Amino acid sequence: MEEKQTLICDKCNVGMEDKEVQFKYLNRSFRHKVKRCPKCGQVYIPEDLAEGRMKEVEGILEEK
Ligand SMILES: [Zn+2]
Repeated sequence: MEEKQTLICDKCNVGMEDKEVQFKYLNRSFRHKVKRCPKCGQVYIPEDLAEGRMKEVEGILEEK
């Protein structure tokens, strides 16, 4: 289930699109869908991803 909400890039004033991007964090990479501006390429990373996912990755690393 995905929310159908349109985010507007405040620079270009155009609707941002869903785009699957690959993140790299502490030598690990994962893919996630984020909102991306088709004009300037700015991505909007939701707080839950920035907070939750990063902590999750840190957690994995600390277990070794
Ligand atoms: Zn833009």
